[in-house]
Amino acid sequence: RLEIRDLVRSFDGKRVVDNVSLSIAPGQVTCLLGPSGCGKSTTLRMIAGVEMQDSGTIHVDGALICDTVFRVPPERRSIGLMFQDFALFPHLSVGENVAFGLKGAGTDRKARAHTLLDRVGLAHFIDEFPHQLSGGEQQRVALARALAPSPRIMLMDEPFSGLDNRLRDGIRDETLDLLKEEGAGVLLVTHEPEEAMRMADEIALMRAGRIVQRGAPYTIYNAPADRDAMAFFSDIN
Ligand code: ATP
Ligand code: MG
Repeated sequence: RLEIRDLVRSFDGKRVVDNVSLSIAPGQVTCLLGPSGCGKSTTLRMIAGVEMQDSGTIHVDGALICDTVFRVPPERRSIGLMFQDFALFPHLSVGENVAFGLKGAGTDRKARAHTLLDRVGLAHFIDEFPHQLSGGEQQRVALARALAPSPRIMLMDEPFSGLDNRLRDGIRDETLDLLKEEGAGVLLVTHEPEEAMRMADEIALMRAGRIVQRGAPYTIYNAPADRDAMAFFSDIN
């Protein structure tokens, strides 16, 4: 379980993340939904540990991961990351890319890579190299790589937005099903209300650095907290 409390981050004197608190349960998908520039990616970067907060705390399963003096490095947080532009290592095969972060015997790592590549429909590419794959295929390999270490928490920053529509729905559903099966908590960033309505167990609506409303998708849809929230949902039908 991920708990973030009162996270604050300013750039040039302006608070871009302003007292954000969230908790994400195992097997749950929380969508961080809000307009461009509201602070979503900055929030994710602080949870991942690649950006430092000015104040606030982050706990995973009750253990302190980060406050203003103590800081567990990103690679030891059991937190996985999926971003839109995730480059593969060009000099490693597809299978080696997926197995890259894994520990253990070579055969076990390769078996895990095969299982995950199979889930994204690319097991036959295991011994190919990234340049032999299309952009969308490379992105699916990168998803498999992010899933490989079975992180407790997965942070996703619009990782499906580069895929074509038909492919995207399949990959997105498959990825989230897999994460839920493994009991990972997911924080999925999106600026598309439709995507949040479809994928989320809980939506956290963010605006100008703050969480303005939290709740089940239909609760928020049926009872938006204010006019701006209503306007944000109004183009869904
Ligand atoms: P988008 O949906 O467009 O990705 P976002 O909600 O992810 O937007 P952030 O990337 O978190 O937004 O940025 C929030 C605000 O913080 C923006 O105004 C951005 O310009 C500012 N910001 C982010 N990182 C920095 C930085 N390193 N230095 C200065 N300003 C920054
Ligand atoms: Mg962003």
